[in-house]
Amino acid sequence: MLIFLLILALLVIAIVQELDRRNEVTEPPSGKCPGCDFTVDADWLLCPRCKELLRTTCVCGKHLPVFYRHCVVCGAPRSVRDWR
Ligand SMILES: [Zn+2]
Ligand SMILES: [Zn+2]
Repeated sequence: MLIFLLILALLVIAIVQELDRRNEVTEPPSGKCPGCDFTVDADWLLCPRCKELLRTTCVCGKHLPVFYRHCVVCGAPRSVRDWR
């Protein structure tokens, strides 16, 4: 019975770690403006401080905030450098 509980506990830990890993993959709702380091929301088009464009188009056609490291649709890696 004790071994069964131990296995169950390990299983729960494994599931929690898996969920944590998925949270890391999720793109942030806000990030830094590439122009002035002002904190901007993912749905903003322009930086309110320096008027830097905060959205670009991925190779798949999806409009994404500049601080997303990967496209949320096709998974393509992105960098601020690529599209400036
Ligand atoms: Zn800015
Ligand atoms: Zn894409």
